[in-house]
Amino acid sequence: MDVPIPEILQTPMEVDEMIMTGAGPSNYHPRIRHAMSLPVLGHLHPKTFKIMDDIKIGVNYLLQTNNSYTFCISGPGHAAIECAFVNLVEDNDIVVIGSSGYWGIRAEDIAKRLNADVKVINKELGEQIELEETRIFFEQYHPKVFFLTHGESSTGMLQQNLEQFGNLCQEFNCLFVVDCVITVGCTPVYVDKWNIDVAFMGTQKVLNAPPGISPITFSARALDKIAKRKTPVKSYNLDAVNLGEYWNSGNRPRIYHHTVCSTLLYGLREAIAIFIENGGLEASWKNHENVAKHFYTLLEKNGLELFITDPKNRVPSVTAIKVPENIDANEIIKHSMNEYNVEISGGIGPMLGVVLRVGLMGINCNEKVAECVAKILIEAIKKMKEE
Ligand code: PMP
Repeated sequence: MDVPIPEILQTPMEVDEMIMTGAGPSNYHPRIRHAMSLPVLGHLHPKTFKIMDDIKIGVNYLLQTNNSYTFCISGPGHAAIECAFVNLVEDNDIVVIGSSGYWGIRAEDIAKRLNADVKVINKELGEQIELEETRIFFEQYHPKVFFLTHGESSTGMLQQNLEQFGNLCQEFNCLFVVDCVITVGCTPVYVDKWNIDVAFMGTQKVLNAPPGISPITFSARALDKIAKRKTPVKSYNLDAVNLGEYWNSGNRPRIYHHTVCSTLLYGLREAIAIFIENGGLEASWKNHENVAKHFYTLLEKNGLELFITDPKNRVPSVTAIKVPENIDANEIIKHSMNEYNVEISGGIGPMLGVVLRVGLMGINCNEKVAECVAKILIEAIKKMKEE
């Protein structure tokens, strides 16, 4: 053998149980774990198609849309961002991006790689994108696509007024793309009512489902734009029309597009079923809001500051907490993991070292977990101040 058998792979792997209260992934519900251990099915098996159909119905409920082109991408949330742009954008199309955090920066990067002519509404980290400044951009550039992040998991910000942005896009015949990765299930998202043309959501956040499979939906307006493209979509894997056909969205018979991972489908299907059994959207919105408020109170009572100062602009699923002066965020994260097996996330991109992030999502969204994480944070900071 030119390359010998690796010694490291001659022993089984081990993974510890943890409480996953970082920015995601969150813990699986035991029923999701069980579902994911069921036998693998073929990607063209009738039972697989039935599960895909169930998921589509569930995702349309979660996103509050009647779109027929709703499907999952076999890939992470990043692939969903890419899927939105690669289908809607042709070379030199003008794209306006509202950016006040990591996901705005990431969307800019992805759109630029696709040769879009990108104009960025650049705000301070954690600031709202305002309607009036967006209108000025629209009047100046007449964009083909406008992108917003509904919940900025880097700063903990909830973007307001999506419906008004949707109306603005209609007025200017622009397609509206919204990243709903951390908002679906924790706060209202109304794709049809708000005139959102492409929305995608995360599985590994509020739903407690496996990552690596990303639901996305396309409006009739978005499909019309795709049909009128002068050039083919520059990605085979992310072609919305072909993916839609695999997911039974169009009028043509299902096609083989790729081999979907059936076990990820099981996990997602069960996650949506559990979500619905637990009372569905309204119950979940209320629970996430109540638990988040309880968590904010616990932190603020103990002298910690939240990055987003206006409570109404905080996204309930992921809270960004300012790292106190002279404290190393990594030491807090290590303390929490080493002493308690509790995951807390650090900052990403420009927020690195600025915030710690806690996700109280789905099965982890209850007062007990909120109190446990708050206690760990407070204890760790106290200990470090004393050292
Ligand atoms: N958008 C937002 C708002 C996110 O929080 C994330 C994941 N943290 C993503 C997109 C990307 O998702 P993924 O890591 O699954 O690619």
